[in-house]
Order: sequence, then structure tokens, then C-alpha cells
Amino acid sequence: MKPPIAEGLVVTIHYRLTLDDGSIADDSFGGDPLTYLQGAQNIVPGLERELLGKNVGDTCEVVVTAAEGYGEYDPAADQTVPKTAFPANVALQPGMSFQTRGRNGQSVPVWVRAITGDKVSITGNHPLAGQRLNFKVEVVDVRRATKEEKQHGHVHGPGGHHH
Ligand code: ZN
Repeated sequence: MKPPIAEGLVVTIHYRLTLDDGSIADDSFGGDPLTYLQGAQNIVPGLERELLGKNVGDTCEVVVTAAEGYGEYDPAADQTVPKTAFPANVALQPGMSFQTRGRNGQSVPVWVRAITGDKVSITGNHPLAGQRLNFKVEVVDVRRATKEEKQHGHVHGPGGHHH
């Protein structure tokens, strides 16, 4: 008997993410499932909260607001920078993401939206910011986290980090 999903457990799920326009943004069914550490903010907060207490074999539909998903769309986070702001050996493409340093030294993700001549349009908005997220989830497995996984705040091994 596996325990229900609780903080500090490693959870494996299959999920399908559908946007309000009906398009499927992500789908793990038929492929590799997602493995994450409950309570470590590995997945969007609204989904993590709804999965708490679910059991292996459960399926559920979870609707997550933008605020509890990838955030509201913030126009102030859109910027245009010169191409020279990027290393010359990077082949810039729309949709690429980079880590930059925030004011307090934390790493902040930035996405490339478009490249026009020598200007690059970038944004701190996640590509799914401002979207309501409609998840269909099946809980595949639950196990205890190792001490190391708890310290790192993420999962090791299949479906997790390798280092
Ligand atoms: Zn690690």
C-alpha cells in the first residue's frame, strides 16, 4: 500500500495540459511520466496543492488559474535588447530561454520572443503566463524521497536530475 501524496514524497504522474482555446500545451500520456518532489515547488503551485492527498491510481482534472500557474502576463517584463547583449556563439531563436541574475542574485528565467535585425525582443513572462491551465492527471507512483533529494529540492534518477 502506497501512502497518499504528502509533502516530501516523490510523485510520478502522467498529465495532459490543455489551454482554454482547446490546444494541448503538453502531454505525457504515452511518453515518459513526470516525476517531482511534492512541496518543493517543482510544479506550478495550483497543481501541487490539488494533488496533495491523492493516491496512486487516482485520476483527476485540475483547473489552475494563471496566478497559481505560470503567473499573470506582465507587460513590464517585456524588453528589447541589442543582439550584442548575448554571447556571439549563441544561435538565438524564438522560444529559447536563458537564466539571468535578478537584483538579489537569484536566477531569473528570460524567454526570447523575436529577433528583428540587431534587436532581440525578450520577456520575463513564461510562455504560458496569463493562461488558465486545465490539467488531466493520473497518479502513477509515490515513493519516499532520499535524504539527498530532500536537500537538493528535486528528484534524482529516472525522470529527475542527473548529476
Ligand atoms: Zn540533485
